Amino acid sequence: MNLHEYQGKELLKSYGVAIQEGKIATSVEEAVDAFKTLQAETGTEMAVVKAQIHAGGRGKGGGVKLAKNMDDLKEHAGNIIGMMLKTPQTPGGMTGPGKLVRKVLVAQDVYAPDFDACKEYYISILMDREKKRNVIIHSTEGGMDIEEVAEKTPELVHKEYIDPQLGLLPFQARKVAFNLGLSGKSFKEMVRFITKLYKAFVGSDASLFEINPCLRDGEDRIIAVDCKVSLDENSLFRHKDLAALRDTDEEDPTEVEAKSYGLNYVNLDGNVGCMVNGAGLAMATMDIIKLSGGEPANFLDVGGTADAARVEQAFRIILRDPAVKAILINIFGGIVRCDRVAQGVVDAYKNIGNISVPIIVRLQGTNADLAKTIIDESGLSVHSAILLQEAADLVKEVIQ
Ligand code: GDP
Ligand code: MN
Repeated sequence: MNLHEYQGKELLKSYGVAIQEGKIATSVEEAVDAFKTLQAETGTEMAVVKAQIHAGGRGKGGGVKLAKNMDDLKEHAGNIIGMMLKTPQTPGGMTGPGKLVRKVLVAQDVYAPDFDACKEYYISILMDREKKRNVIIHSTEGGMDIEEVAEKTPELVHKEYIDPQLGLLPFQARKVAFNLGLSGKSFKEMVRFITKLYKAFVGSDASLFEINPCLRDGEDRIIAVDCKVSLDENSLFRHKDLAALRDTDEEDPTEVEAKSYGLNYVNLDGNVGCMVNGAGLAMATMDIIKLSGGEPANFLDVGGTADAARVEQAFRIILRDPAVKAILINIFGGIVRCDRVAQGVVDAYKNIGNISVPIIVRLQGTNADLAKTIIDESGLSVHSAILLQEAADLVKEVIQ
């Protein structure tokens, strides 16, 4: 689950990490108030207006603007709130439709008063699955696209791996500061910054922290100016406060709805919808679809209890995608009996009405034969199969 920049900063702050302070606003009036409060609290003269959407590269699309005074602030807030912001990371990139900006963060200008003395760094923490360790990626080339830095000047991207048993050791935090070329006060500040940042990462069960840029200001303070936070969804049960930060406006509406039914659904670009029980079988089914010449239109795991109601909800969600030319249902009847799933499919088909795409049902396991009979005798345009190969051949046939 991704957080907004302002939420991520609050999380960091609660662990004592120094951040660029800001206030959230959903209208120009609120932005004006936010600026006034911020000036009173931090003494900042200028403010940065930052679009809050779940995508990076906002600066490139005009979603981050410096306001030198109140007039500037009103203008920028007015332009950014309600805009369709296109960034390299929004759907379709810079030529896509962009994402609607509902709120802005009015943040203190941390580059003042000595802009030229400031230096931007890149810091991220994530899990390296191959090394089975968290890694702190850091670079002197902050504020830029790190993928590009890694490609063109890989020697400027450093990695510090953390032993899960030992955690971040003091010498490792110092090594990061050293790699970033810091000394004196900024060195000590960076050691403190990294130490707290790592505590926050582990403490919140995060899967990604990306601070880009992390700023060394004119007084050698180290400050998180931007922050991208992704949390491990599997840990949210023990972080009720963080779970409450979910912003469903930022997520695919169909995926949000599917989640509310207990369905694990991910929308994809292909033409064959699939409904499967179990994530492993779902992935294998997607492979079968591809081998049959089709492209999966989605990933959908209905879970262990593939009852009639679930099957119907899953059906409706798959059918909403206009690209779907056929649906492959692949259910293994272990806990759930195949005949009950078959009846569920038949009932759902009748309930929904006028389904125009061919349906292929492959049921294997308990009462598979009975299930096939139910499908075959239903009189519906549903093809039944018991063997996966049969199902694959049917997919090939119907999408041609
Ligand atoms: P992103 O474009 O989505 O990555 O948004 P960032 O939060 O990283 O902001 C983009 C850029 O705006 C940064 O790289 C900075 O150069 C600039 N910026 C952010 N905060 C300030 C600030 O307080 N003062 C000034 N002068 N520039 C800022
Ligand atoms: Mn950034």
